[in-house]
Amino acid sequence: MREEMVERFISYVKVDTQSDESSETCPSTPGQLVLANQLVEELKSIGMEDVTIDENGYVMATLPANTTKDVPTIGFLAHVDTATDFTGKNVNPQIVENYDGNDIVLNEDQQIILSTKEFPELPQYKGHTLITTDGTTLLGADNKAGVAEIMTAMNYLIQHPEIKHGKIRVAFTPDEEIGRGPHRFDVKAFDATYAYTMDGGPLGELEYESFNAAAAKITTKGKNVHPGTAKGKMVNSAKIAMELNAQLPADEAPEHTEGYEGFYHLISISGDVEETKLAYIIRDHDREKFEDRKATMASIVDDLQKKYGQDKITLEMNDQYYNMRDKIEPVKHIVDLAYQAMENLGIKPIVKPIRGGTDGSQLSYMGLPTPNVFTGGENYHGRYEYISVDNMEKAVNVILEIAKLYEEKA
Ligand SMILES: [Zn+2]
Repeated sequence: MREEMVERFISYVKVDTQSDESSETCPSTPGQLVLANQLVEELKSIGMEDVTIDENGYVMATLPANTTKDVPTIGFLAHVDTATDFTGKNVNPQIVENYDGNDIVLNEDQQIILSTKEFPELPQYKGHTLITTDGTTLLGADNKAGVAEIMTAMNYLIQHPEIKHGKIRVAFTPDEEIGRGPHRFDVKAFDATYAYTMDGGPLGELEYESFNAAAAKITTKGKNVHPGTAKGKMVNSAKIAMELNAQLPADEAPEHTEGYEGFYHLISISGDVEETKLAYIIRDHDREKFEDRKATMASIVDDLQKKYGQDKITLEMNDQYYNMRDKIEPVKHIVDLAYQAMENLGIKPIVKPIRGGTDGSQLSYMGLPTPNVFTGGENYHGRYEYISVDNMEKAVNVILEIAKLYEEKA
């Protein structure tokens, strides 16, 4: 199982599937379709049924039930794209067998080192087989590890019909990293009662709470006049922008918050006297506080409009996703079952709120409650990304155990 899983994983990371926010197509980049089609072939070759790919690049497949019990259909999902933060082209994975717990030289020439000082969790992987980058790309364990784990688990179940399970659906989806993963996901066609994204990080992660999320785009307008004769005439849009930002609570920013603390995050600002554009994201786990944050932003803009003129400042604010907890809490047993699956395997579950979103945040609101399970990876989205093969194997076992438990409990 281990060798097969590693082989699959390596073949997936070699396909460049970086998504692209500026693209209008779905999937946003052609590489994602290349991998999606490869997955279609693999799903067919291991014996999955109803293998489909739609015009948007969403891959789905079925493992039919092998029990007469009435078991709810469960789904497992992973996304094929990689982060926009760092290149995923020409990924050249390095395998470190029986890791000794010391620094790992990722790239001798460029002296890129995965150091235990910078990454203090490293030594706990002593004795594991690790897969790292060569220091020049990301790895893409986010989320190709999830894809490899699901594929390997399905093949295992097909090879081991003595393990009884209900109907299982799997899906491999595009464009998670740009927040569009679920946008064209056909929940009806998927037809599962509950699902799990295999898209978490280190061993034991189990998540069913995410942020509520909104984006705010603000444009301020000024009036440029020669500075020598500007008195009483010039309006400086950049200064209005600074005035706006100064009214937000300074300590409610990503760099000052953790756990359940929400924030306003200025992600970009650009401008001059004439025109300045600000982009914020607003995040909070608590729905009421989230609404309050949006109201605060709106009222600051309102005050500035009163001060400088209605046309001098515009606000465009949109909700992006909501905390999946509100949709998962009523079926909390699906989290408890994953928890039990981990405990049965001797894995200590780590349940904590995600300070972000997953595809599950949107899917849960589309009628498919979808918590998130670990894949085993660390340091996602950059050159220091790596994954423990041992923990990937445990993730495969969690999938198998979840399938078993649903059957046993039916
Ligand atoms: Zn991911």
